[in-house]
This record gives sequence, structure tokens and C-alpha cells, in this order.
Amino acid sequence: MAKPYVSVVIPVYNEQDNLEALFTRLTAVLDRTGKPFEIVFTNDGSRDRSGAMLREFHERRPDQVRVIDFNGNFGQHMAIMAAFERVRGEVVVTLDADLQNPPEEIPKLLAAVEAGHDVVGGYRKNRRDTFFRKYASKIINGIRAKITNIRMRDQGCMLRASGRNIVEHITASGETSTFIPALAYSYAAKPAEVEVEHAARAAGESKYRLYDLIRLNFDLMTGFSIAPLQFFSALGLLLGVISEGLRMTALPAARAIGRIHIGTMTGKLNGVIAATTPSGWRSVTASTPVATFGVLRPAMWTGRPQAYSTVSMPRVTPTRASAKVLP
Ligand code: UDP
Ligand code: MG
Repeated sequence: MAKPYVSVVIPVYNEQDNLEALFTRLTAVLDRTGKPFEIVFTNDGSRDRSGAMLREFHERRPDQVRVIDFNGNFGQHMAIMAAFERVRGEVVVTLDADLQNPPEEIPKLLAAVEAGHDVVGGYRKNRRDTFFRKYASKIINGIRAKITNIRMRDQGCMLRASGRNIVEHITASGETSTFIPALAYSYAAKPAEVEVEHAARAAGESKYRLYDLIRLNFDLMTGFSIAPLQFFSALGLLLGVISEGLRMTALPAARAIGRIHIGTMTGKLNGVIAATTPSGWRSVTASTPVATFGVLRPAMWTGRPQAYSTVSMPRVTPTRASAKVLP
């Protein structure tokens, strides 16, 4: 079998009613390109017939379809990560399984890669999601644009293509809580964006509940910027100073006259201690007579962050350990 040129990566979680149409449309598009390809599905712990259907796709086209079977649900981005670790193509395309990203747009992405771009992101012309999702995304997009140096129009669009070297950087980062489009962008030398169509979900429901969306966007905010860390450190300092100021002014005054006056803030810190632990964490602790507060952060953040990778606390990633791969 020829080494694939394109690898299409698709995370699948309970998508039984979309898979047949997806497979038909996708293989038609890829066959038409005339280039060798592979499709790598990750079954992210589906409880419906998705797993069996993917196995059947593999049996239909054993040279082109590969399936990674998670033994639980680990989330869309981990499913993509596991596939990234196994792709063999020169160009890697990501796609959702629910047909919101039309497979017919793939050749557009491939053309941009062939024109020399290493990361090509789609942006959705007419986004077909709920009003709430569209509005919330707009806000998050805006905050992300302000606090990170990631410049992309539509971070949430999963119809994207990357060169093989980018995918290798992503897997080497070992990230477990991340946002793949942003991570890919942070490694890109020559990114590009192309306009793509977007459709309403063909069948089934969105797998993201409000809580999942908050978690995902939290990963985006804390993984690619130290602004949240700086904000909360500054807030901690400010609160410390205010509390010290109140202790020194308002409390004695209240005791004296039985009423609290908010006086001028004259508090001063007893000391600020910065230390780097042998394990590479840096702590900054400030103490006042009434409170001690501090921040702990990886020492690597004190230099220019390497590709802005999140430094997550070490955590076992069951996905890799538990993934079964066909063939
Ligand atoms: N997905 C996944 N694991 C999850 C949630 C989603 O593999 O825990 C897949 C899902 O099957 C789909 C893609 O990720 O292929 C995007 O999910 P969804 O369409 O629910 O997200 P939305 O379009 O609402 O952002
Ligand atoms: Mg969707």
C-alpha cells in the first residue's frame, strides 16, 4: 500500500446516525483527489453503534481506514491527539463527524498547504449553531485575541489542515488539556485561513454541555497566555494591601468611635519572597501581618514560553495507555 499523502482525523462520540453519510461523502472527495490517503477515526468511548460501524468501515477499506478505540470518553481534543500520534500522511486534516464541516471543502485546504502554508484553518462563513454558542464564541475569540498572540479568525472551526512537522510538534508537547487549533497555530511558521461552509449538525446533538465548554475555554485561556495568572496574582496582592490598609486604619477607628470608616490605605507588606524549587516550580509569597498569600508557577514561564504550552500538573493520560489500534 502506498504511503498516504493525506491523513484525515475524525473524533467520534455517539455519532451513529452521521457516520454512513460522512464516510460516503468523505471517501468520494478523497478518491477524487487521486492522492493516497488514510482516514483515522478515534472512537471516543461511544455507547451507541459508532464503534461497530467504524470497524465495518475498516473492513470495507482496510488499507485506508484505521480506528483507534478508546475505552472511555476522553474528549474531542484527546481523541484528535491520539490520532495525531499515529498518522502517516504528509498533510493532516481534522474534521468533525457530525457533517457540520463539509468534507467537500478539504481540497481547498489541501491547495493552501500545497501553496506553502504549514497550518491552514477554516473559518466559517455562515456558522450554523445556536445563538448562544455563536455569541459565547465571539466573546471568547475576542478575549483570546487580546491576551494571546494567536491570530485566527475562528478558533472553534475544526476543519483544518497541518503539515506533518506541525503534528509532530503537537504530539511531542505531550499536552493533555489543550485546544488543538491554538496549539497548531503556535507552532506555525506560515499560517493561512480559508473560508469554509458550515452546516447544522446532520443528526444527534452537540456533545458539549455548558460545563464542557467552560472547561475547554479555560484550557485555551490558561494554556496560551500568562495573563490570567498575572491578573489573579495582582488581584491577590491588591486584596492583601487593602486588608492590611483596613486593619491599620479602619479597625482602630471603628474601635475608637464604634463605626467603620474606610480610611486611606497605608498598609505595607512585610515581605515578598520568591523562590525556585528543585522541581522547577517558582513560588512568590507575600506576607502581611494579617495574611500570607502567594502564587506558584512553573519556572519555565519566567522565560519566553516554549510554544506557549500549558504546563499541566503531571497526570496519567489513560487515553494513550488504553488505546487499541486497528490494524
Ligand atoms: N467528540 C468527541 N468526544 C467528545 C465530544 C465530541 O470525540 O467528548 C466529537 C464529536 O463526535 C464530533 C466532534 O467531536 O465529531 C465535535 O463535537 P460536537 O459536534 O458535539 O461539538 P460542537 O459542534 O457542538 O462544538
Ligand atoms: Mg458539531
